Amino acid sequence: MEIVQLLCPSSKYGIKGPYSMAPKGITIHNTANDASAKNEISYMITNNNQVSYHYAVDDVRAVQGMPLDRNAWHAGDGRSGYGNRNTIGIEICYSKSGGDRFLKAEQNAAELTARLMLQYGWGVDKVNAKEINTHQSRSGKYCPHRTLDMGIGRFWTMVKNKYAELSGKPLPTPTPEPTPQPSGDSYLVKVTTDALNIRNGAGTNYAVTGCIRDKGTYTIVETQGNWGRLKSGAGWICLDYTQKVSGGNTPTPEPTTNGRKVGDVVNINGVYTSSMSTNKLKPAVTSGKITKIVNGANNPYLLNDGNIGWINESCIVGSRSNTSNNTTSFSKGQTVTLKTTASKYCTGQTIPSSVKGKRYTIMQVGSGNTHPDGVLLKEIMSWVYKADVQ
Ligand SMILES: [Zn+2]
Repeated sequence: MEIVQLLCPSSKYGIKGPYSMAPKGITIHNTANDASAKNEISYMITNNNQVSYHYAVDDVRAVQGMPLDRNAWHAGDGRSGYGNRNTIGIEICYSKSGGDRFLKAEQNAAELTARLMLQYGWGVDKVNAKEINTHQSRSGKYCPHRTLDMGIGRFWTMVKNKYAELSGKPLPTPTPEPTPQPSGDSYLVKVTTDALNIRNGAGTNYAVTGCIRDKGTYTIVETQGNWGRLKSGAGWICLDYTQKVSGGNTPTPEPTTNGRKVGDVVNINGVYTSSMSTNKLKPAVTSGKITKIVNGANNPYLLNDGNIGWINESCIVGSRSNTSNNTTSFSKGQTVTLKTTASKYCTGQTIPSSVKGKRYTIMQVGSGNTHPDGVLLKEIMSWVYKADVQ
């Protein structure tokens, strides 16, 4: 999913978002309309109604219309309401007619929610609590109508699964990650269904801990009846929805550490949720720092202490760069970490600790009269000093 901005001009903040905001959560909506995200946002920022929200999400992209440090009028809970003053409003498109594009839009909204959770450091305990909830929870309106019709628990599960996938932190499960044992019993299966639940035991009576959506090929290391345990340690899947792959041998990625060392910063195009996983996922960020190396693992490098996940050589793109030879030159699109030692934005306000220590994308590099000593960070739409990012 791509995330693009079509921002409300600041001249209209008086109507659309008069208050500054440090987001504490998210409010989920359905548009009750059949327009695309771009059209919803264009309409929202063009009209003069006191109606606004931060994102509209459709089946292909999320479009941001309001900066995340301004409030928006979407929750129906009044001028000082928790929803209107503290939460990021996300509208899911195509809810009027529903169908495939709505279902995909919901998935994208779940991904956007998970990304924002990572960005602001909100854990899964905030999901379906005060912080991350529906428009209905804010003011009683039956919104997100179609998502509520289909069961809101289903949407929260999508958010939690996406969060687990992007963060590399598996959802809490009572069983510790087992050490994969070499066994003649292991074999490959290809998933044949669009969504296959991963459970923490061999049966539907065990809790769902994740979901496989890529119809990929997985290694089973233990079998109980029609259930198989995944080599990654993620849990058990029902083998009725898989096809055994003949040949049998597990394709193990080259276990090499290739001269890389802790502290190296690498650009990535893929990520794994564990050091042994063979299920390559799309990463939420484009680069990360190696913070741990496990020699011999399928995916030997841990990035950013697990906040990004595990990678192997196949995930690394472009030339190497080391933090040791970092220079102060930055470029648009580059991913940087806002140092925990940063104190003020270039505009003078104090930087809240919740945004420090996280990774952001440079949207603009300052020059001339526009913060020549700073960079504009896309996700927080704020100028910070170059000296405060790395
Ligand atoms: Zn709503």
